[in-house]
Amino acid sequence: MNIHEYQAKELLKRYGVAVLDGYVAWTPDEAAAAAHKLPGSVYVVKAQLHAGGRGAGHFTDDPNGKGGVRIAHSIDDVRAAAEAMLGHTLVTHQTGANGRPVHRVYVEAACDIARELYLSLLVDRVSGRVTMIASTEGGMEIEDVAARHPDKILRTAVDPASGLSGFHARKLAYGLALNGAAATAFSRLLPGLYNAFTSLDCTQVEINPLVVTGDANVVALDAKVAFDDNAFFRHPEVEKLRDEAEEDPKELEAAKYNLNYVALDGNIGCMVNGAGLAMATMDIIKLYGAAPANFLDVGGGATKERVTAAFKIILSDPNVEGILVNIFGGIMRCDVIAEGVVSAAREVQLSVPLVVRLEGTNVDLGKAILANSKLPIIAADNLADAAGKIVKAVQEGS
Ligand code: ADP
Ligand code: MG
Repeated sequence: MNIHEYQAKELLKRYGVAVLDGYVAWTPDEAAAAAHKLPGSVYVVKAQLHAGGRGAGHFTDDPNGKGGVRIAHSIDDVRAAAEAMLGHTLVTHQTGANGRPVHRVYVEAACDIARELYLSLLVDRVSGRVTMIASTEGGMEIEDVAARHPDKILRTAVDPASGLSGFHARKLAYGLALNGAAATAFSRLLPGLYNAFTSLDCTQVEINPLVVTGDANVVALDAKVAFDDNAFFRHPEVEKLRDEAEEDPKELEAAKYNLNYVALDGNIGCMVNGAGLAMATMDIIKLYGAAPANFLDVGGGATKERVTAAFKIILSDPNVEGILVNIFGGIMRCDVIAEGVVSAAREVQLSVPLVVRLEGTNVDLGKAILANSKLPIIAADNLADAAGKIVKAVQEGS
């Protein structure tokens, strides 16, 4: 799960990470009131979206093409910036071409920026260690830096047995050419970030930019924090930060039924039991020249209710032009699954081709149920056959 910048900063602050003063606002009046409470007379109004690149983005209805991070030199400017953002649609390179509506803004003190650096923490899956990635090239997309200047990416992993130590901070500070007061400030900030990362079961903490201020302080000017949802039982307060408006409605619906669903942008909906089989099904759809519209693992206990819910979610995606059901009846019996598929197909009045591949216990009974249903279900014998049939059916239909 992702959270907004202002929520991330509130959390990080509790761990001693230096952030600027700021307040969230839902209306232009609240934004103006927030600016009143801030020190200084220059403010920054920042659109809150779970997407990066806000500064370089644009609003669909703004003729001047101004982005989602704006400097304001008066309270009236703050109000005007908030008015231009709230309820309007911001397009960034991470939102897709249609952009996403902004419902909250963050009003922050303006920062006297001397340098913009990059710092993130994530779990490196190869070494299995929390790894810090840093670069002198802050404020830019780190993927671009990695592609163009791989030498400017610093990495250092933390051994979980010994934890973070002064050595890590010194190594990174040296690589980032920080010295004196800035190096000291950096070595105070780093343990805060690391403790937040490990204590809150984060999957990513990205500070881009991490800035060195004119008076040699080091401050997190942006913050992107993502959590491991499997650890929410330990952090009920973190789960409350969820903003459903930022999540795919199909994924929210799937979560209600305990379905492991991830929306993708292809045209073939997939319903599979088992994550490995679901991955293999997506691969083979690609191999046959089409693209999966989703990942979906209905799990071992695929009841009629869950199969129906899964069908509805798949069909609510306007890109879906065909569905491939690929179920291995191990613990589940194929006849039970076939009953579920038939009744779900009837209930949702299936309007796109449906290919079903069943294998395992009671497979003959299952196939007979599909055949006797009189529904236009295309039966398949194996995975390659199934993928070939659904891709062909969709191509013929379009
Ligand atoms: P995004 O990454 O979504 O574009 P950021 O929070 O990183 O949003 O802001 C983009 C840029 O705007 C930063 O790199 C920085 O140059 C500037 N900026 C952001 N917040 C402030 C601030 N409080 N004071 C001054 N400049 C800021
Ligand atoms: Mg940023």
